[in-house]
Amino acid sequence: MAEKTNGSAMLENVDYHAVGMSATDPSLNPFMIAQRQLADAAKILKLDDATHEMLRWPIREMHAHLPVRMDNGKVKVFHAFRVQYNDARGPTKGGIRFHPDETIDTVRALAAWMTWKVAVVDIPLGGGKGGIVCDPLKMSLGELERLSRAYIRAFARLLGPEKDVPAPDVYTTPQIMAWMVDEYAVIQGQNQFGMITGKPLALGGSQGRGDATARGGVYVMREAAKKIKLDLAKATYAIQGSGNAGWFAAQIINDEIGGKVVAIGEIDGAVYNPEGLDVHKFHEHFTKTKSVKGFKGAEILPNSKDVLELKVDVVVPAALENQITKANAGRIKAKMILELANGPTTPEADEILFEKGVMVLPDFLANAGGVTVSYFEMVQNAYQYYWEPELVRKRLDMKMTDAFNAVYEMAQKHKVHNRLGAYLVSVHRVAEAMKLRGWV
Ligand code: GLU
Repeated sequence: MAEKTNGSAMLENVDYHAVGMSATDPSLNPFMIAQRQLADAAKILKLDDATHEMLRWPIREMHAHLPVRMDNGKVKVFHAFRVQYNDARGPTKGGIRFHPDETIDTVRALAAWMTWKVAVVDIPLGGGKGGIVCDPLKMSLGELERLSRAYIRAFARLLGPEKDVPAPDVYTTPQIMAWMVDEYAVIQGQNQFGMITGKPLALGGSQGRGDATARGGVYVMREAAKKIKLDLAKATYAIQGSGNAGWFAAQIINDEIGGKVVAIGEIDGAVYNPEGLDVHKFHEHFTKTKSVKGFKGAEILPNSKDVLELKVDVVVPAALENQITKANAGRIKAKMILELANGPTTPEADEILFEKGVMVLPDFLANAGGVTVSYFEMVQNAYQYYWEPELVRKRLDMKMTDAFNAVYEMAQKHKVHNRLGAYLVSVHRVAEAMKLRGWV
């Protein structure tokens, strides 16, 4: 084995400019955060330097500039990325985000987290991620379709069921997956449903994929609640975000667990009612108006982040990264944080929450339900034989419960927070595959 790593000190030697990283605010750059988190795990695992260095970088990343004809007749050029982070355990897998603030570093970080995510639930895949810098809320359906197809044309040669398999993420939907699988079929001259997941049911999608991220998180929360003796049916919840993850979480908590959702944060503020919100009415209102404003039956808070500091039992960040930082972590009152978003908590905040004894269910464990059912979708596509919803849920439950237990045990054993516990489980698995392949 090569010389032992010195952990985070290695970060000092990076020529950030040469690798296209922005060094302006390292404490909030998601990719630098991902590298720091890895370094903490590398130290405890005593990873050799070569393994650590390989795991700090994507094996491959692609940039493309997509010309798209807009409804006004003009062509607009969109910047797009696909990052294949690590494929030692299988084809890379991860969603595509459509977001105005997308950067190569966020996509790299998200691709790294996908690598740890698929490893923590022990499915035979690697990690990847994609993104397009765009504002989908300001685009027509036709523009979105042309943009989605352009993305597949640019990256088709790098995608495929045995290579790299995209899926939905922030602001991407089953309809977008449908356009993408169709464009891929045109290019290949044949249907290949397993090249993308999160598809509509009528087009090779899986039962249970729509709410899989939230449902998987709820299974993890159920196991964690046993450890801290929290009665989930009597608990109160505040949710930031009501998209692919947050809205389904609100529904499951409200309709199935019987818990009280008191607040939901969205792009232009939050709705709050300590007696409990009518989550269905809010969803109807928000879908129609794209705003929290004007919703009856709740107080309107100015910022979506405000929900994180409310006096509730469980906080569910289900929006974007860097929401819980050293600036607000000290004010969090919840007993448990269910991270359905990717990267919502910074390392400084992790330390504060650990000191306070908050049960944090870290993102790449808590939100792994989405990719787990995506993997089930790939399996069903390969066999052309589809499962009942009950079977999907049962198998998802097994995966999430096993993953939680592995992480919790690891964190207890090393007396570290759950995120580091999760890193120890995942990094060990990926490093083992790299070693067996003879990479390091
Ligand atoms: N975008 C989701 C995530 O961050 C799902 C990825 C997938 O299904 O491949 O986990």
